[in-house]
Amino acid sequence: MFWNHVSKKLSAYRHGELPSEESRRVAEHLADCSRCRDEYEEIKFGARLAQRLALEQAPADLWNELEAVMDGGTIHRRGAENAEAPQRKSFWPLPSFKLGAAFAVLLLIGFGVFWFQSRKTPRPFWEVARIEGQPVIGSKVIGEVGKLSLGEWLTTDDESRARIDVGQIGLVTVEPNSRLKLAEARDEEHRLAMTRGRMSALIWAPPRQFYVDTPSAVAVDLGCAYTLEVNDDGQAVLSVTAGWVAFESEGRESFVPRDGMCVTRPGIGPGTPYFNDASEEFKQALARFDTAGMDWPSRAAALGIILYQARERDALTLWHLLSRTFGEERGLIYDKLASFVPPPAGVTREGVLSRDKKMLDLWWENLGLGSADFWRMWKGPAPK
Ligand SMILES: [Zn+2]
Repeated sequence: MFWNHVSKKLSAYRHGELPSEESRRVAEHLADCSRCRDEYEEIKFGARLAQRLALEQAPADLWNELEAVMDGGTIHRRGAENAEAPQRKSFWPLPSFKLGAAFAVLLLIGFGVFWFQSRKTPRPFWEVARIEGQPVIGSKVIGEVGKLSLGEWLTTDDESRARIDVGQIGLVTVEPNSRLKLAEARDEEHRLAMTRGRMSALIWAPPRQFYVDTPSAVAVDLGCAYTLEVNDDGQAVLSVTAGWVAFESEGRESFVPRDGMCVTRPGIGPGTPYFNDASEEFKQALARFDTAGMDWPSRAAALGIILYQARERDALTLWHLLSRTFGEERGLIYDKLASFVPPPAGVTREGVLSRDKKMLDLWWENLGLGSADFWRMWKGPAPK
């Protein structure tokens, strides 16, 4: 997998100048190589910053120039240090011809902003390529390629597969017997809704730009590759192959790393994540625990097996359970987790038992799974 790093190709890649095969290989490399991914983020961040500065500074510069011309002075007040346009006050009151000129400039700025925004608005459809069989968009069978517009459904029968280009940020492979809809296609929010079937996603955008709605939780991409399967009962199984994915529903969150899995169920929401190499007993006990509700004897029986079977690596599961348990249950989990990963300074049994968020985060940092900043930093206001 690790052919050479792709630094030199990133700029061409960003501008869509690579042949598609090469572009795909760069994307795959990005999914696996954090070094190149960081570099790519820098390039994108730099470009965005430049665009924003251009947009914000243009009016200030224009104001300055306009004032200079109307004051009969020469145009020399340019550049970032004049961006605040300190002379603007002298503008009022104005003789009418100056007012006219000011309106003309405002109009120009208006058009400029409009042009800038319309240019960067993503196309409201994603391209779909047939892999095999006869994928359908709406009620039409697509040929080799098709367009999935906002609100349209893509369906595959038991012999069809398709690939979706997710804007500029990733690829989704749709397996047989699947049904999904393009729910949003904005720069900062790429969203599919899946009601059944199986898809795999490879996403190279920064975290929290790609979402998949399932019947009982939203899968939030945190920079990764994963598969998602929705069965007829609306239950969804997430399986992560690179990076991180979060399952979220009504404030309940599960963070799932590479090799991790998580099940979300209608009426319950995201279950407790686990590693796919955990024992069958462990997984089954976890499923029973997640679905036991307030059936205390069932919970106790399941928890006993979970604690008995847990390996050090299952700290992932134990940590999540801390905020999904009550009273004595939580105390037992605390002791088990502490035997694998001693709570760091600042984390007390008492604090954890009262679900102190800061302490839970601190402990997480010590689990060796990756920093909590990784997602908290990106969290920002969640899109509707
Ligand atoms: Zn690399």
